[in-house]
Amino acid sequence: MCESCASVAAAEEERPRTGLSRRGLLAGVGLGLGVSMGFVPGLTATAAAASSKNGRWCNPALGYFPKGGHYGAPRSGGPHAGQDITNSTGTAVYAAAAGTVIRKGWGGGLPGRSGNGIVLSHGGGQYTYYGHLSAYRIGLNAKVSAGQRIGDMGATGNVTGPHLHFEVHSGGLGALTNPVSFMAGRGVDLGGGWSRIDPGARGKRVTAIQYLMTRRGYDLAADGYYGSVSVGAVKRFQASRGLVADGQVGPATWPHLVYTLKQGHSGSHVRALQTVLNKHGAGLAVDGGFGTVTTSAVRSYQSVNRLVVDGVAGAVTWRALVG
Ligand SMILES: [Zn+2]
Repeated sequence: MCESCASVAAAEEERPRTGLSRRGLLAGVGLGLGVSMGFVPGLTATAAAASSKNGRWCNPALGYFPKGGHYGAPRSGGPHAGQDITNSTGTAVYAAAAGTVIRKGWGGGLPGRSGNGIVLSHGGGQYTYYGHLSAYRIGLNAKVSAGQRIGDMGATGNVTGPHLHFEVHSGGLGALTNPVSFMAGRGVDLGGGWSRIDPGARGKRVTAIQYLMTRRGYDLAADGYYGSVSVGAVKRFQASRGLVADGQVGPATWPHLVYTLKQGHSGSHVRALQTVLNKHGAGLAVDGGFGTVTTSAVRSYQSVNRLVVDGVAGAVTWRALVG
């Protein structure tokens, strides 16, 4: 409830400036404004079956946690129902998992909420809510895929600054749960860190890992399933790098796996990049060639996520893409 968020935003104004550089995600604020936005993310993505399996959930927005914006924070109208994620107006807001748009409107039709809101149903009694949007990018009843852009961050409703108010309901609409721990259990760091992919996961991030591993010299089929063959290869790779060989691709392993890529590069690592860009609706041919179309997709992604817009896929961009 964002009378709730109003107090969050007020408290947040006292936040030390150092908070802005948390994880470096906001380094590019303001740099992307002149970029052409001809590329529209999200339109080519197809809906996947709703699932709570690891690999099927993703970060709904890049930003930082404002002081006092955590789930359960005391508010005059009751504990804060969601987790606030702060960035500038216009920052892309993505579906956290595949699902259906069941509410689109003021406060998402939920009591006590305000501003433009969307409720997604993910099946199995799981719902997510996205509040204070400045724009909608999806229609009511639309099927969405994980990572598809559904709106833009904003400050509509009873707030004093732009942020995404993100809620998770598990066990029926109204059954609130802590979004941070819920998402962490599905490999997603809501604060914008590297995701964690566990054995048994499926999805585009797994496909990307397989392409990256192939480039690293471990020839894996890019089938999107993180099964025993892929896990075994990752364990050998981890051992070769002096990492804990647990087969889990998380914050320690991702930085060793990704490559800094830019126009002119070609190969399996570029296929990995194109695969995760497609997870966010880029609609690229996964051909392994980093040409002008891939550059444009990287720049667009960086722009809508308030990253440095340079068309180069470095560690910060990768972290955002696989988050
Ligand atoms: Zn809030």
